[in-house]
Amino acid sequence: MPDDTHIEIDQDVCIGAGQCALTAPGVFTQDDDGFSTLLPGREDGGGDPLVREAARACPVAAITVSETVG
Ligand code: SF4
Repeated sequence: MPDDTHIEIDQDVCIGAGQCALTAPGVFTQDDDGFSTLLPGREDGGGDPLVREAARACPVAAITVSETVG
């Protein structure tokens, strides 16, 4: 796993489909309006390999996973 993973959710793009929260429930959740948000302390994904799956599963590509290896 890379040292530093950073997850961003573009809530302007998110349509609240909930796929991310279904795919990686340890990292993503949905806010009161149904939009995707990260669980507290999981901004770096917590090393969960499902993060990449969740990014792929998002139908509108609202999730960006960036990694810094170093
Ligand atoms: S899968 Fe994509 S569109 Fe659906 S809630 Fe997650 S970020 Fe939003």
